Amino acid sequence: MGFILKTHLWNDPFVTNSLVRMCLELGMVELARSVFDKMPTRDLISWNSLLSGYLKAGQIDMAREVFERMPQRDLVSCNTMIDGYGKHGFCELAEEVFMDMGVRDVVTWTSMISAFVLNHQPKKGLCLFREMLSLGVRPDAPAVVSVLSAIADLGFVEEGKWIHDYIVCNKMLHSYSFIGSALINMYAKCGQIENAYDVFRSICHRRNVGDWNSMISGLALHGLAREAIELFQEMEREKLKPDDITFLGLLNACNHGGLKDEGQLYFETMQMKYKIVPKIQHYGCIVDLLGRSGCLEQALEVIHDMPFEPDVLIWKAILSASMKHNDVVLGHTAALRAIELAPQDSSCYVLLSNIFAKMGRWNEVNEVRLMMRKRGVRKIPGCSSILVDGKVHQFLVGKALNEGYNQSVLLKLEEVVYKLKSEGYEPDLDEVFLDIEECEKESQLILHSEKLALAFALSSVPEGVPIHIVKNLRICCDCHTFMQLVSKIYKRQIIVRDQNRFHHFSKGSCSCRNYW
Ligand SMILES: [Zn+2]
Ligand SMILES: [Zn+2]
Repeated sequence: MGFILKTHLWNDPFVTNSLVRMCLELGMVELARSVFDKMPTRDLISWNSLLSGYLKAGQIDMAREVFERMPQRDLVSCNTMIDGYGKHGFCELAEEVFMDMGVRDVVTWTSMISAFVLNHQPKKGLCLFREMLSLGVRPDAPAVVSVLSAIADLGFVEEGKWIHDYIVCNKMLHSYSFIGSALINMYAKCGQIENAYDVFRSICHRRNVGDWNSMISGLALHGLAREAIELFQEMEREKLKPDDITFLGLLNACNHGGLKDEGQLYFETMQMKYKIVPKIQHYGCIVDLLGRSGCLEQALEVIHDMPFEPDVLIWKAILSASMKHNDVVLGHTAALRAIELAPQDSSCYVLLSNIFAKMGRWNEVNEVRLMMRKRGVRKIPGCSSILVDGKVHQFLVGKALNEGYNQSVLLKLEEVVYKLKSEGYEPDLDEVFLDIEECEKESQLILHSEKLALAFALSSVPEGVPIHIVKNLRICCDCHTFMQLVSKIYKRQIIVRDQNRFHHFSKGSCSCRNYW
């Protein structure tokens, strides 16, 4: 560098730009900046290199400063900025840049769509994709993958089928290897495991590990543990080398299917046969699996022996396992550890207060509630959505979101509860541990969002068509029983996707066999 500084090469932007890029590639952002500052002339390439260097290093403020100081910007700078903002969780800033742009290309649209998807705004991502098409911009493969993941998050397959057609018409499925696994993932998350299988079979001549992984994780999501294991064995027969994601899917499948021995076997196979070092997620899975099966001591041994500090998910797994198996003391410890690690996660406080309630220690229940208020922790409200006639209807716990439905939904719900009670349904108040009157507990339970959505669906989804509900949190025991009974008494097929997995209710039972 000293050599360059002393010669006329310093005036050659080609040389100085390469120097900036070299520094950035070596991770020396500050050095790159000082070279940049000393440059006698800077062109767009110099500005853009520095910009993406800052973004890559996660220094958003610095990137923003550079972006705003640029004497002129081109498409590349704006696209880089949208992409960087999106990846670092600043979706609104990305949107600002997007809105200010006079000219946009396919990369601009794709970056904005993925920004929405990455920041949990799938609906906006999908809308933007539609707008892009209506303006005649041809989506590229990354845009299609992003929009498929938006649809997977939303959980409603109609849009996905249409995009699938688009992919087939434009021969994208065989030109881009990663579209297959995005499609499989979309169908699986929308509850259409058969369609996922169809895609998986249709690409049988050129499948990569990603496709197998998506299929195995999809089966896990639906609790089809045996099928996931069979698929894994097929993968082994085809001499494909599984990776850490394959095993995460497989362990999840064993976990959701309650297959403790198989889960432990694959945890071992992964390390011994394939020399894959387990990540904390793998340990989390095995701890959850052991805990649920009632082997709490073994689960604690795994935590003790693993090379990581347990994270909040692991403590939460222990917490719910100890609740299930009535180990109040262990549950208490686990709850405290979980709260320590995630002081803003409301679910840990709720579980802790549930533990105290179980012991009848109402003073402590109140203390936990006070602690939550002091720390400004808010409970995430339960929210269920359902697609009817191409429109998404949302229901929040405690009320029907769209006021227009309020009365009719509540009336229908009352009717259903009456009918269920005459068939022997008794609200399961165990999970409502609050120290309130029994009848108040019951009315709280009745207004859980999935019940509201179900009541709405019973009067708006034609008979014979499965009812499809997507919920943001885990389904509670009472709602689970409720769905089972409705599926029997009303002869309806009900599919609920909760935070963790799918439940297919039919003829009075659920595909999870009450294990979730
Ligand atoms: Zn519920
Ligand atoms: Zn279930």
